[in-house]
Amino acid sequence: MKRLIIANWKMNPQTLEEAKKLMVSWQHRLHFVADHVEVVICPPFVFLPSLHHHVAVIKLGAQNMSWIEEGALTGEVSAIQLKHWKVSYVILGHSERRLYLGETDSIVNEKVKLALYHKLTPILCLGGEQGADRDQMQSLVTKQFAACTKDVEDKNLHKIVYVYEPTWAISTMNKSRPETGEHAAEMVDHIYTLLEHRIGKAAKTAKVLYGGTVNKLNVHEYAKFPQIDGALVGAASLDSENFWQIIKEFHRESLHRS
Ligand code: PEP
Repeated sequence: MKRLIIANWKMNPQTLEEAKKLMVSWQHRLHFVADHVEVVICPPFVFLPSLHHHVAVIKLGAQNMSWIEEGALTGEVSAIQLKHWKVSYVILGHSERRLYLGETDSIVNEKVKLALYHKLTPILCLGGEQGADRDQMQSLVTKQFAACTKDVEDKNLHKIVYVYEPTWAISTMNKSRPETGEHAAEMVDHIYTLLEHRIGKAAKTAKVLYGGTVNKLNVHEYAKFPQIDGALVGAASLDSENFWQIIKEFHRESLHRS
């Protein structure tokens, strides 16, 4: 199974020129790693119409999506609109949306079901809750997993990309600290176990990633664990070289194992 590296650009960069420059900086190099690594870039919505021409080796993702199909929802973007710009992934349940915009598990659950219905791959973030500490992570992730995948048909559960991303590990959070590879791997195993309870052996066909301050200096900590299928990368994905080193390290580890 290919490893998956996802760039979450958040509300960056400020201009389309910078966005295009970043995209182009990886486009050709990715051919060298495409046998073992898949790369998804999640830019702000406004850049999607200009970046969709680059979709080939690089896939496009959105950072959010409305929980309903269409209608009077100021400021929201629908699944169908995203599909129009060749978006194939969508980040759902990110800590920042839970924390600053009050998103709940039930809203995330609606979005997950709608994304699957429209054949968009949900990138479901688990572990985001302000104040939760490390000892509470297994129960928090268990609760979020159950609530966010409620009524999702078993046959669709492996289509979701799960990301263990504890709030405190996000580089821009107050008093942020990255997690250790060991803890990340344990939590990834835990998510696989939750999946196994629902779909048995098919759990192995799902991807489970880690997110939180992954960068070129610490990527080996995570890439060396075979069960960590990739990374969700924020700040480091805005630096062309830093992000490329992350991709290369996951590729190197995969080559080493194959
Ligand atoms: C994120 O917020 O999804 C993230 C992974 O950010 P960072 O890599 O900056 O911690």
